[in-house]
Amino acid sequence: MANNMTQHYDLIAIGAGSGGLSVAERAAMYGKKCAVIESGKLGGTCVNVGCVPKKIMWNAATLYHAVQDAKDYGFDVEYKGFDWHTLVTKRENYITGINNWYETYLSDSNIDFIAGHAAFHDAKTLNVEGKLYTSDHIVITPGGYPDIPDITGAELGITSDGFFALAQQPMRVAVVGSGYIAVELAGLLNCLGSDVTMLLRKEHFLGNFDAMLRESLMESMLEDGVNILSRTEIASISKEDNDTLTLHTQNGHCIEDVDCLIWAIGRKPNIEHLALDKAGIALNPDNTIKVDKYENTNVSNIYALGDVTGKVALTPVAIASARRLADRLFNHQSQCHLQYSNIPSVVFSHPPIATVGLSEHEAREKHGSGVKIYQSRFTPMSHAFTQHKVMTAMKLIVVGAQEKVVGCHIIGPGADEMLQGFAVAIKMGATKKDFDKTVAIHPSSAEELVTMR
Ligand SMILES: Cc1cc2nc3c(=O)[nH]c(=O)nc-3n(C[C@H](O)[C@H](O)[C@H](O)COP(=O)(O)OP(=O)(O)OC[C@H]3O[C@@H](n4cnc5c(N)ncnc54)[C@H](O)[C@@H]3O)c2cc1C
Repeated sequence: MANNMTQHYDLIAIGAGSGGLSVAERAAMYGKKCAVIESGKLGGTCVNVGCVPKKIMWNAATLYHAVQDAKDYGFDVEYKGFDWHTLVTKRENYITGINNWYETYLSDSNIDFIAGHAAFHDAKTLNVEGKLYTSDHIVITPGGYPDIPDITGAELGITSDGFFALAQQPMRVAVVGSGYIAVELAGLLNCLGSDVTMLLRKEHFLGNFDAMLRESLMESMLEDGVNILSRTEIASISKEDNDTLTLHTQNGHCIEDVDCLIWAIGRKPNIEHLALDKAGIALNPDNTIKVDKYENTNVSNIYALGDVTGKVALTPVAIASARRLADRLFNHQSQCHLQYSNIPSVVFSHPPIATVGLSEHEAREKHGSGVKIYQSRFTPMSHAFTQHKVMTAMKLIVVGAQEKVVGCHIIGPGADEMLQGFAVAIKMGATKKDFDKTVAIHPSSAEELVTMR
């Protein structure tokens, strides 16, 4: 029971990012008394230092090639440079607008916004800056933070958070990492005119993606001038008198004159200051919070979802699992939970990648000789006579006599907008015949997906 000093809720979410906002919003829709606790800015990673600012930078970078291509289409345009300050100011104003919108939205939705840092007092009580709040249901959605390695001079580098805080464009950049964030930051900085070197621990980046995607992207990035150093690990970093950095690699080489080092080597769950032990919450070996398919932790009435669970770290996944949790708790849908298969995603690289389902490697491991591959590689019509060539490549992975589509992978201009509809079909169990029966849209790149032989 709450005492006089505490405020009591039906549901409290720790963290007002994609997951926390969504679970509170859906629970409030069912008439529940809800609060979100946030120590930073409303909207969380996605809005402030993730998807949104990243996509704005990607849009800007994409325009660089559009200006070049415009000349080949007969336009009298000349590229005279790019002003980082203008873009970043507009980007941050746009984000502030979203932060403000959320604040109004929360109050319109009767959701209390508690500013401050939450920590467990016990399994039913949270402490926010010395004030106690109790709740029947507590949802832990604190997200994650970017990791940096434990080596000499690591603090001389920045992370994706620091990238979005850059007031000036860095001109000689080293990006360390091989996940989608590394690839995206390297790609957009290269388009915007920075000299970019990527350092990969292994041979390739995007290790979990279909080989066709990562090989095609690597080819495009090399052609566009990104310097990619495979099998290169940094041993230490030193700062020189002229303020540039020197990266000392483990194999004895030096990369000099770097004016910005970006660590994009992965993210860690944001659990350090939550006092999870006071509620007895169990963790996975990598310190993500252990949950079942219903997002239940080991403690009843405490749930966790989004990046902190280490499942699939994407905004729509956090949102979808949050809504299903509220549907389950407050709308009599006792079996409701997110199915973590066939989740489509996009890498905002240059060109973009869109992917859903199994990679060819995964499909062959799972289905052996029952796998058949359809693929296509071509120059999209938009680039038929431009000097800057961009390839498009597509792959459909089908299984069994019915040729059920279990994977769809696209790289090329427009891939980011192309996949969503195909993902619906694949989620519904579409077969290659269903694709073939669908009349093509012509002329488009997407039509290749329904005309593959
Ligand atoms: C550079 C980058 C680009 C990305 N691009 C994409 C993309 O294009 N598409 C996509 O789908 N996903 C993208 N993501 C991933 C996406 O941002 C996350 O998957 C999503 O934000 C996870 O939502 P969440 O609710 O789990 O956590 P978050 O959105 O991280 O929200 C957690 C919130 O909790 C707060 N918090 C933490 N601890 C406490 C505490 N103790 N008390 C109070 N508040 C606390 C934090 O301040 C934060 O606001 C990107 C991420 C990054 C870093």
